[in-house]
Amino acid sequence: MRVLVTGGAGYIGSHACVELAGRGHELVLVDNFSNSSPLVAGRLATLTGREPELHRADLRDRAAVDGLFKGRGIDAVIHFAALKAVGDSCRRPLDYFDNNIGGTIHLLQAMRAHGVGRLVFSSSATVYGDPDGVPVREDAPLRVTNPYGRTKLVMEQLIGDLCTSDPGFRAVNLRYFNPVGAHPSGLIGEAPGGVPDNLMPYVCQVAVGLRERLAVFGGDWPTVDGTGVRDYIHVMDLARAHADALDFLVRGHRSASINLGTGQGTSVLQLVRAFERASGRAVPYEIVDRRPGDVAEVYADPSLAHRLLGWRAEHDIDAMCRDAWHWQSRNPGGYADGPAAPGGAAAS
Ligand code: NAD
Ligand code: UDP
Repeated sequence: MRVLVTGGAGYIGSHACVELAGRGHELVLVDNFSNSSPLVAGRLATLTGREPELHRADLRDRAAVDGLFKGRGIDAVIHFAALKAVGDSCRRPLDYFDNNIGGTIHLLQAMRAHGVGRLVFSSSATVYGDPDGVPVREDAPLRVTNPYGRTKLVMEQLIGDLCTSDPGFRAVNLRYFNPVGAHPSGLIGEAPGGVPDNLMPYVCQVAVGLRERLAVFGGDWPTVDGTGVRDYIHVMDLARAHADALDFLVRGHRSASINLGTGQGTSVLQLVRAFERASGRAVPYEIVDRRPGDVAEVYADPSLAHRLLGWRAEHDIDAMCRDAWHWQSRNPGGYADGPAAPGGAAAS
């Protein structure tokens, strides 16, 4: 298929492109580089043996989005492009509504106008907010706690309404838990701008000597060792699920929302120890106050992904740490010209 990948230069999008190209899909990438580097194109060319067709455009520019579909024979869209930092979204919610929801509306309009009826959408476990219990299933109540999460929920709802109104339009919302790690080559990976808010990139930067020590947000949570528990998932497992979701749509199945996690919870200290083993580096840390808005424990019930897509996570936390470290140690400052993200790149 010919697949339009929005946000294709970003962290998860670039890894998905490697997987999709490996399965024989032809790719058209679009990105405005607000949180990524055009240098990823060269890395993708090395990994896939082919220079990607990468367009600089902003999804808020409706005419530009429409232009991407003209004469290209696009069969399906994978929609990664979004602003994703929770704290940043609390400071400038309108920008998040405009970029994420506005951009998605333009994309959906262009898909309709050009008769493209298959969409894989990057959603997030953030749509569950503070869940009543774990593991979290897809039918758990949806209740978001910040503007970023609200954009994800609204986008899921917009897509759902479109699927209801038009039987020819089908979509898979993939609800990611905590994506980490990198392509095993070390050529592509996560390159947050500014101070990372997410755990794994912060740990990487401590290990490589860019930061002194990790602040562990709370040691008194009701968890295995008092630190927060999350469901970390290797970005290569995540990448594979996008290709599986496309196959699912091609087979003619109905629309669905699907968790992507391992089903295993890992505490902050368990991750730090795994990272120290994988890297051979010490990761000094201190326990500080809880971070406002954090929750104790979130991990997925990933069984629906297996039932519908035949997908299961294959990498464990040791592999996630090994590949994150391989990327970080080879690219201490990220892609050479670095992303210019004012609010860092934390996501949920
Ligand atoms: P990323 O910031 O690395 O990638 C997003 C890409 O979209 C960037 O390259 C950015 O420049 C681009 N972009 C943003 N707005 C755009 C616009 N208006 N027009 C064109 N391009 C635009 O983020 P990521 O970690 O790869 O996340 C990809 C998707 O997955 C996002 O939708 C994010 O919300 C979602 N998600 C991420 C995580 C995570 O922890 N990384 C967790 C759950 C969900
Ligand atoms: N965390 C931490 N120090 C950091 C960043 C994160 O202790 O510098 C903890 C955080 O409290 C949570 C876990 O690590 O328990 C994962 O946080 P992240 O921001 O990566 O993901 P999210 O909270 O959005 O699931």
